[in-house]
Amino acid sequence: MILLSRQQSQMHRILEALIRRLPSTHVDYMNYFDRLMRIQAGFAGEKRVDAEWLEINLPNPHYFLHDLQILNHFGNTHQIDSILLCPHFILILEIKNITGFLEYDESFTQFTRTTSQGDVEGMIDPFHQVRRHAEWIKRMLKKYKVEIPVHYAVVMATKNAILSESLKGQPIFHVSGLRYHIKELFKQHKELMLGADNLFLFATKLLSRHMPIKREITIPVRDIVKGVLCVRCSNGQRMSYHSIKWTCPRCGLVDREAIFRTLEDYKLLVGDSLTNKSFCDFFEVDSPDLAYRLLQKLPVKAEGVKKHRKYWIKDG
Ligand SMILES: [Zn+2]
Repeated sequence: MILLSRQQSQMHRILEALIRRLPSTHVDYMNYFDRLMRIQAGFAGEKRVDAEWLEINLPNPHYFLHDLQILNHFGNTHQIDSILLCPHFILILEIKNITGFLEYDESFTQFTRTTSQGDVEGMIDPFHQVRRHAEWIKRMLKKYKVEIPVHYAVVMATKNAILSESLKGQPIFHVSGLRYHIKELFKQHKELMLGADNLFLFATKLLSRHMPIKREITIPVRDIVKGVLCVRCSNGQRMSYHSIKWTCPRCGLVDREAIFRTLEDYKLLVGDSLTNKSFCDFFEVDSPDLAYRLLQKLPVKAEGVKKHRKYWIKDG
């Protein structure tokens, strides 16, 4: 059972909206674009591993927590890609979607990759990351007086990561090896360490610590393309409002969802409250009367009257 499912992060969604609306000639466009590509690759890799679990037989009960984000008692954060809790053991996964020839020097805790162009790049040691998560889980187990073995592994989500001999003996494998790794763990831990109730209780204790980590990003709001954009033209082409519908003057698309997407972009890039004026600016609507009428149809909650009216964008 999945207790915590994987979601696109807020940062992922902000960067997607930003790339939709920032001119590609903008001085920071490539920075945002590269950042989005990295997040997208990571997310795709995690989804790839999630899909692999569907083909693996696991005894019941068992629980998954995907992308658990917590603040530890030192005030530092943990972002744990996947945790499997079953009555025999707990397994923590660090998922990597990176390509190249990967090498590891344990004495230096140095993890490097050599790209297909021959460039050598240093990377964060994934074993250090996942061990740190395991130590936190062990502290939680101790706190709640629960005894169960904790295992961890680094899973490579793409076959284009070539693992070198230097990684032999380390808990790292390709996603296709996950089922064999699990089989081995069950062979190693035949004994039931936790009853169903206690397992669920501990899993929900971990879940209750989940608090999505807020990451800061500077959004060049002034430089982004405003208006209700056409998804088909997708080059910043604006739609216009006539006869109660948004139509693209270029390709003719009529899109009833366009205004809701624009509201979502506004929420991600500007904030969760609007005024008639900020609506006119962002949606590129000239008439405050039309803005008023359009706002009535959107999932917003009005507060105050006349000039001081403010609209809060509802969640979801
Ligand atoms: Zn169009």
